[in-house]
Amino acid sequence: MTAPFDDKLHEECGVFGVFGHDDAPALTALGLHALQHRGQEAAGIVAFDGNHFTAERHVGLVGDIFGNDGHVAKLKGRNTIGHVRYSTTGGSVVRNVQPLFADLTGGGLALAHNGNLTNARQLRRQLVAEGAIFQSTSDTETIIHLAARSHYEPIVEKLIDALKRVEGAYSLVALTSKKLIGVRDPYGVRPLVLGKLDNAFILASETCALDIIGAEFVRDIAAGEMVVITKEGIESHKPFPPKPNRFCIFEYVYFARPDSSVEGRNVYDVRKAIGAELAHEAPAAADMVIPVPDSGVPAALGFAEASGLPFELGIIRNHYVGRTFIEPSDTIRHLGVKLKHNANRAKLKGKRIVLVDDSIVRGTTSKKIVEMVRDAGATEVHFRIASPPTTHSCFYGVDTPNKEDLLAHRMNLTGMRDFINADSLAFISMDGLYRAVGEAKRLSGAPQFCDACFSGDYPVEPTDSREFRRQLSFLAEVV
Ligand code: SF4
Repeated sequence: MTAPFDDKLHEECGVFGVFGHDDAPALTALGLHALQHRGQEAAGIVAFDGNHFTAERHVGLVGDIFGNDGHVAKLKGRNTIGHVRYSTTGGSVVRNVQPLFADLTGGGLALAHNGNLTNARQLRRQLVAEGAIFQSTSDTETIIHLAARSHYEPIVEKLIDALKRVEGAYSLVALTSKKLIGVRDPYGVRPLVLGKLDNAFILASETCALDIIGAEFVRDIAAGEMVVITKEGIESHKPFPPKPNRFCIFEYVYFARPDSSVEGRNVYDVRKAIGAELAHEAPAAADMVIPVPDSGVPAALGFAEASGLPFELGIIRNHYVGRTFIEPSDTIRHLGVKLKHNANRAKLKGKRIVLVDDSIVRGTTSKKIVEMVRDAGATEVHFRIASPPTTHSCFYGVDTPNKEDLLAHRMNLTGMRDFINADSLAFISMDGLYRAVGEAKRLSGAPQFCDACFSGDYPVEPTDSREFRRQLSFLAEVV
C-alpha cells in the first residue's frame, strides 16, 4: 500500500539472518527494525531450535509486532531468518508475509527474499499446470515450489536448481535444519552483506542492520554468490553463469539508509557527492540551499558545500505522521503534504532558495512542496534533483508507478518545470551520478549499475507485466 502524501519509489523488502547465537530471535527483530525503511507493511521471523521450526509472521511495523507482546519469546532457536515487506497494492495478507516455510524431501526450508522475479508469471503458470497449489502471490513461493520439485539432494542443491530457473533480482536468505544460506542473483541487483557477532554469522540487506546489534561487517555477498553457513563455518559457491554486475544505483540515491555502506561505498558520502556534482552541473543564483527532508538532506549538504551557499532547514518534517492516516478521510487528504512537511517561514521569507530532493516520481508532492515554500515567502525556487529523470518502471523489487504516470515520461524538462511551478529545474546527469559513485562515467551499452528506471536499459528484459502483478495482488485480497 502506497503511503498517502508520499510520491516516492519504494523498496519492497529487507532480509536478515543469524546462525549460531543464543539471542538469535531478538537479534533478528532488532535487525529487521533497522531495515524498516525497506518495508513497512509486514514482518516475520522463522527460527530453528534443533528440532522444530517456529514462525511469527504478522502485518504491521517491526516494533509493533516484535516490540513487547511476546512474539520474540515464542521463537526458539539459535538460527533464524527474518523479513520486512512492503506490499505493492491493496492490503497485506498474512499468507504473503515472509519468511515462507515448506517441508521438502530432505527437511524444512524457510525462505525470505528481497527483489522481484521477471519470469514469475511463466514459472507460476507452468507449476500450476503441473499441479502446484499456491498459498500466496509472492515470488518466494515460486522458488519454494521449484525447489520442492527438484530431484537434486541435499536442499542446498534443490535451491540452486530452483534458482537456475528464475530470472530477475533476488537477494535471499534461507534456513534449513543445518544451514543458513545467503544468495544474490547473478547481476547483484539488490544488496546483501555478511557480518559476524561473536561466533555467530549474520546476513543482512544493509550494514545498518549489523550496526544495531553490534556485529562487525565482514564483506558484501558477491553478485551470483551463494554462501552456506554451518557449524563448521562458511562456504562460498558460484553456482550460476557469471553476468555483468548491475547493482541498483537507486540504492545510493534513496533506498538504502545513509548510514549503510553498500558495495564498498558509504551511502551518505555518495549522496553528498551527488549534491556536489549537481552544484557544478546546475548552479543557481540563490540565498540558501534547502533540502526536502529527510531524503534530500545529504545531497543538499553536498550542494551547499560545493556552491558555498548556506544550508538551512527550511522545511521541517513531522516524523510521526504515516500509518495513523493510512486511510485518510477527504478532510485529511486535503491537507496533503502539509501533514508530513511544514515550511519554516522565518527562514524562507524573501529568500531565493535552491530546493534539493532525491527524485521526482509523479511530481504531485514536488508541486505541493514548491507551492508551500512559495506560500511561506520564498521569492525564487530553483529545484535540483539528485537523480536523473525517472522515465521507466522498475521490475526488480521496487514499487514504481506505470511508466505513463511518471512525470519525466510524460513531459520534457520545461514541461516538468512548469508543472511543479519552479523558477528552474535541473536533474543530475547520468554521468554526474556515475561520477558521484566513483566511476569516471557511465559506460554506454555496458553500464556498471542497473540504472533502468533512468535509462530503460534493463539488465533482464521483464517478461511479466505490471498488470500481471496487479492481478496477483488483487487475487491476494479476494481469495
Ligand atoms: Fe534500481 Fe531503477 Fe534498476 Fe529498479 S530499475 S533496480 S530502482 S536502478
